[in-house]
Amino acid sequence: MQINSPQFKERAKTALHDPSLQKALGNLRHGFPGKRAAAVARMPEFEQLRDEGRDLKNHVIEHLDFYLEQFETKVIEQGGQVHWARDAEEARKAILDICRKANAKTVTKGKSMVSEEINLNDYLEEHGVHPIETDLGEYILQLREDHPSHIIAPAIHLNLDDVSDIFSKKHGTERTDDPAALMQEAREMLRKQFVAADVGITGANFCVAETGSTLIVTNEGNGDLTQILPRVHVVIATIDKVVPTLEDMTLFQRLLARSATGQEFTVYNTLSTGPRRSDDQDGPEEYHVVLLDNGRSEMLGGDFQEMLRCIRCSACMNHCPVYGAVGGHAYGWVYPGPMGAVLTPKLIGIDKAGHLPNASTFCGKCESVCPVRIPLPKMMRHWREREFERHLSPKGVRLGLGAWSYFTRHPKLYRWLARAGSFGLKLMAGKKGRVHSLPLSKGWTAWREMPAPEGGTFMDQWKKQQRQAEEN
Ligand code: SF4
Repeated sequence: MQINSPQFKERAKTALHDPSLQKALGNLRHGFPGKRAAAVARMPEFEQLRDEGRDLKNHVIEHLDFYLEQFETKVIEQGGQVHWARDAEEARKAILDICRKANAKTVTKGKSMVSEEINLNDYLEEHGVHPIETDLGEYILQLREDHPSHIIAPAIHLNLDDVSDIFSKKHGTERTDDPAALMQEAREMLRKQFVAADVGITGANFCVAETGSTLIVTNEGNGDLTQILPRVHVVIATIDKVVPTLEDMTLFQRLLARSATGQEFTVYNTLSTGPRRSDDQDGPEEYHVVLLDNGRSEMLGGDFQEMLRCIRCSACMNHCPVYGAVGGHAYGWVYPGPMGAVLTPKLIGIDKAGHLPNASTFCGKCESVCPVRIPLPKMMRHWREREFERHLSPKGVRLGLGAWSYFTRHPKLYRWLARAGSFGLKLMAGKKGRVHSLPLSKGWTAWREMPAPEGGTFMDQWKKQQRQAEEN
């Protein structure tokens, strides 16, 4: 997927003026957050589960080498193969090699953001292997030559009309606006592909170290057909997906479904453990797991380690006012929203993704809904610091911060200026007590007015309250 993150501002502006996208985003804003809140309300122990999820993920991250090696040993014991990939190139090559050995012409694919991260589809296509997306949203996007805008609902930026148009155009069928008919149409098209595919590629929500199993959760069942019907099943997963035991996995399943879609449980939860055994009724002859690092091990022990707890539920973006206004494509790469604002700079570089950690109101909603309590705003701040240190932030911001830094080191001057500013704002506010326009802050006052400061500066008010507390 092409990197367009440096154009975040332009893309966000376009998105804000796109009525079709705004309609689709309205559906998102009124859908997932309410469903999550209802599911959480039905589960009194949810907050405790979040703590357990956070602690368990921290434990795994601190012993990642141990659990990954255990996972590899178990996969091999079950007759599967593990391929370690340091970066996207190694992962792509490993998957292409498997496809070539299987003499594959077509591969079916379950939804996998990791495959987007390594740009797998284009690579396979360039090398003569035709990938077919089988998740309904991904299938629609593939027909449109489009990309996901959300990590669990990839086509959330589209409306019914968009789907009707592309189905009619690509399938050569009569246009219909009936969702059930469209679904049936996709089902009929995909059934043939499931049967014809030589290789099935899926992602993994979790890799279980004690059994060497991988789990995928879907609401369509397409993942099951992708991994059971072809002769070869390839799982592509990043190293942070490992969990110690099946019981640990169930903890995250409970958190994931509620945080993502507000379901008690995702409809299909499918475990794969090695290739088909002699007494199995179905399953692939070969089972491969490609374990991708792609910069994640560099996050260990640093400011961004906690991001490795992410279970890709999407709650942070579903509740983010910025994502809700501009949608996922504005972010310009695979991972949008608050989790993308932290992860993307690590994967493609802060020089290309510098806008993303700045695309936040810091309202803290993302952290408050994250099932594994990832402190996303804190890590966005770390990225802003990196940006500043490397002189990547805009000149105006650097000058402003330099001036701020100077005044805070000269408290008397700072207080004097703050009082003068407070007085000036009162004058500007006039009798109505509202400021309508401020120099250097037009982006703010264009949409909202600011109340005139009451009771002097913050320091004045603080001192006053201290005095009152002492007197009482
Ligand atoms: S950062 Fe938290 S809320 Fe966002 S996708 Fe990851 S686990 Fe979910």
